[in-house]
Amino acid sequence: MSKDNHGREIDYLRISVTDRCNLRCLYCMPEDGVTWKPHDSILTIEEIERLVRIAAAEGFSRIRLTGGEPLVRLGIVDLVRSVVKTAGIESVAMTTNGLLLPQMAEQLKQAGLQRVNISLDTLDPEQFTYITRRGKIEDVFAGIEADLAVGFNPVKINAVVVRSLNQDLLTFAKLSFDRPLHVRFIEYMPVGDSCGSGGTGWTEADTIPNDELVSMLNALAIADGIGPLLPIAKTKSPQGWGPAQYYQFDGAKGTVGFISALSRHFCSECNRLRVTAEGQLRPCLFSDLEYDLRTALRAGDDASVQETLRRALKAKPDSHHHRVGTERLMSQIGG
Ligand code: SAM
Ligand code: SF4
Repeated sequence: MSKDNHGREIDYLRISVTDRCNLRCLYCMPEDGVTWKPHDSILTIEEIERLVRIAAAEGFSRIRLTGGEPLVRLGIVDLVRSVVKTAGIESVAMTTNGLLLPQMAEQLKQAGLQRVNISLDTLDPEQFTYITRRGKIEDVFAGIEADLAVGFNPVKINAVVVRSLNQDLLTFAKLSFDRPLHVRFIEYMPVGDSCGSGGTGWTEADTIPNDELVSMLNALAIADGIGPLLPIAKTKSPQGWGPAQYYQFDGAKGTVGFISALSRHFCSECNRLRVTAEGQLRPCLFSDLEYDLRTALRAGDDASVQETLRRALKAKPDSHHHRVGTERLMSQIGG
């Protein structure tokens, strides 16, 4: 396992496999989409496979495929199959909006994918169309069913919480009651606004700090008669739990998690590097510092890819120091 200059063990690589998407979430992408990167600027499937092999030899053992929307990337199932088989890779997961899961979940499971997180910010059909600017919520519900049906485990639902959206958080949290669904509330991050993703008018004031969110939910849950959320010890966290703080309603099959990149940031536990669809390696989500992997991959220079991974690792900052607002959009970084 590789260590960075701050003593953190870095074994997790998040790879964005495309900058394209079949949705246009308000907080992630402009309505007209972005100027898509030309195909030849995006890493090919073979280049990603080679990058994973080199990264695995450097001690990266966990891979998450993200995007844009990873399921719109041609060849994604083959990529999963090959990443899963790479020596040294122990876990392969994906983050998706879920729209294409009904058609693809079975193939992905067969290819060896272990976990699929689905992003869904509301249970209200109209609000869903407002947030995503297109798309039907029923398709995501069908995606969640497919995720459960093929046996991905655990099944997590990631919901970005935005104060001015006034989402129905209790109904959301209660999804964790009857079925083994793990609902995770994510603080809204004002990322990418500097290149005009916005138009949302949302600012940091729209980020609801986790502690406030837990109190809000507990008040609603107690009034509803189901009682407060009970904290789960980190030591009892199943695999792939990541930086969330977890709770559970008494008697529930699933859990409710809270991920805070801002109010209680987890920089000291950060264990990851990110690769953009264009093959740029980012030591920190909130920093625009990037290292070019694509040139070395295209030159067939594995030693230089290895060297770039090492340089990025050493340059990983101790914390984002509350700097937010990146040049790239979230859809380009991969969340
Ligand atoms: N398309 C896939 C999806 O939506 O799951 C994968 C890519 S998306 C960029 C990855 C995650 O980033 C999603 O859960 C999304 O909600 C989250 N995300 C995007 N923009 C965000 C923002 N400004 N603040 C917090 N989370 C954000
Ligand atoms: Fe697409 Fe995911 Fe961004 Fe929504 S959050 S626009 S689904 S990449």
